[in-house]
Amino acid sequence: MSFNIAIDGPAGAGKSTIAKNLAKELAFIYVDTGAMYRALALYFLRNGIEAKDVDALRAALEHIQITITCSTEGQHVFLNGEDVTGFIRKEEVGNMASATSGYAFVREKLLDLQRSLAAENNVIMDGRDIGTCVLPDAQLKVYLTASVRTRALRRYQELLEKGESVELSSIEEDITRRDEQDKNREVAPLMAAEDARILDSSDLSIEEATDAILQMAREAGLPEKFFC
Ligand code: C5P
Repeated sequence: MSFNIAIDGPAGAGKSTIAKNLAKELAFIYVDTGAMYRALALYFLRNGIEAKDVDALRAALEHIQITITCSTEGQHVFLNGEDVTGFIRKEEVGNMASATSGYAFVREKLLDLQRSLAAENNVIMDGRDIGTCVLPDAQLKVYLTASVRTRALRRYQELLEKGESVELSSIEEDITRRDEQDKNREVAPLMAAEDARILDSSDLSIEEATDAILQMAREAGLPEKFFC
């Protein structure tokens, strides 16, 4: 039976960086479910489909196939066979993903893929509803959070390093809006599972947060042979 670690939390809490570190440490597969929603969003944007146009979104899903390749080094996401990993990180794509991920039929499209990856592999899977909906039986559930200010600053640095010019205040607004959208949607809202361990990374380095989760995995019964 596989061992599954679910990491949920708002945008910019450090989920993906920490999850990648954990995957390397434990030789688990890292599954970034946000990338799957982003790949769908990219298709909608490329085809001029608006987030409010439910009929068009539903019809578009018939023509979309999302696949991924995973390794301990990271994940590549494919949209109808095209590797779109490099195209999905823009703010525009993230906003479209957030605006469309609240539809049950959109979430349904990705659920089987997410569950089958976790059934077949030891995974660290990150997202918004992994502990609550996708993997309710995960052996360890972590809700990773951080203050809006901290998250905006991290994102700001990331974009600056990529050479994109952005304003901190607009990132803060984006993050707040996205949090609201993710937390208040009716289907699979962002929230901590009842049995999740809460970790606030505002004052932690990536290494400290990674170590804290490794310790939680130990306490959750992950055998010692994985920690080498
Ligand atoms: O994590 P990331 O920022 O890449 O996710 C983009 C958007 O996809 C989120 O704002 C959220 O609306 C959606 N998402 C989701 N459920 C997940 C992962 C992501 O609704 N499990």
